[in-house]
Amino acid sequence: WQKFKDGLSKTRERLKDSLGELFEIDRLVDQAFLEELEEILITADIGIETVNRLLEPSRKKILTGEPLKVSELRRSLREEMLQMLTVPTPPFPPEASPAVIFFIGVNGVGKTTTLAKVAWHLKNRGFSVLAIAADTFRAAAIEQLETWGNRVGIEVIKQAPGADPGAVVYQGLQAAKARGTEVVLVDTAGRLHTKYNLMEELKKMVRVADKVIPGAPHENILVLDATTGQNAVNQAKLFGEAVKLHSLIITKMDGTAKGGIAVTVAHLFKLPIRFVGLGEKMEDLAPFEPKAFVDALLP
Ligand code: GDP
Repeated sequence: WQKFKDGLSKTRERLKDSLGELFEIDRLVDQAFLEELEEILITADIGIETVNRLLEPSRKKILTGEPLKVSELRRSLREEMLQMLTVPTPPFPPEASPAVIFFIGVNGVGKTTTLAKVAWHLKNRGFSVLAIAADTFRAAAIEQLETWGNRVGIEVIKQAPGADPGAVVYQGLQAAKARGTEVVLVDTAGRLHTKYNLMEELKKMVRVADKVIPGAPHENILVLDATTGQNAVNQAKLFGEAVKLHSLIITKMDGTAKGGIAVTVAHLFKLPIRFVGLGEKMEDLAPFEPKAFVDALLP
C-alpha cells in the first residue's frame, strides 16, 4: 500500500495539494467553488464527462438552492469516485485450468513488461506460468519477452518473427495442456497503423485459443499507459470493438500526474482495474484497490 501511494505521488501531489487548499475552510459551496473544483479534477486527467458525473449530486443541490457545505461535498466526491471504481471483480487468475490471459494494447504502453510483472506476481503466489510470444510482428518483442522469461524464470513459447500469431497461440496452448500449466499469458501485437489487420488478427487468436481450450481466453486485459491521458479512452473503445475486454492494467502511474485517467476508464467502460504499473522493474506492479486509490488521491 505504501508502494502504491508512493507510485502515485505525482497525481497525488497535484490533486491533494490543490484540493487540500480548496477544502481547507468548511464554508458553503457556490458555483465558483464548483468550477474551481472541476478544473482541478480535469488537470489530473479525469475526463469532463466523468468529472460531471462526480459532481452531479453536488451540482443538483446548488441548483435547487439547497445549502451544501464543503465537508459534505468532499464526502460526496469521495463516495462517487469510490463507486465509479468499484465494479464487479472476478478472481485473478480466472478459475480455469489452464487460465488463458491475453495482454492487449498498442505498442509502447508497456504490455510486454507488464506481462512479465504479472508472471512474476503469479509465480510468487505459487502458480505455474507459461508465456506465449504472439507479437510475431516485431522481432524485438519476441526477444524482449524471452529476456523477461529468463529473468522471471518461466518458459516462453515462440516462433520465428513473422510467424502466424494464431499458430504460436496454438502451439503454446498445446504445450500448456501437455504440461498441466496453470496460467498462460499471451503477448499480442499492438501496431495501430494497420488497425484492421491487427483487430482481425486478435479475433483470430481468440478463435484459435477457444478451439484448443474451450472458453479461452478467460481474460482479455487491456493495457493502458497513464501518461497518454485521454488517448487511453480511445484505445479502450477501439479494442473493445474487436474483442471482449474483461479488465484493465494501467501502466506508468509513477511518471505522471494524469493518474485520474484510471477513474475515467473504469467508469466509462465498467471494467475492473487489476493492477497498476509503478516502474520498470519486475516488482513495480501493485494490485489495484479502489479505496486505497481514492485515499491516495483525495485529501
Ligand atoms: P510494449 O510495446 O507495450 O510491449 O511496451 P514495453 O513493455 O516494451 O514497455 C515500453 C517502455 O515502458 C519500456 O521502457 C518499459 O520499461 C516502460 N514501462 C512499462 N511499464 C512501466 C511502468 O509502470 N512505469 C514506468 N515508469 N515505465 C514502464
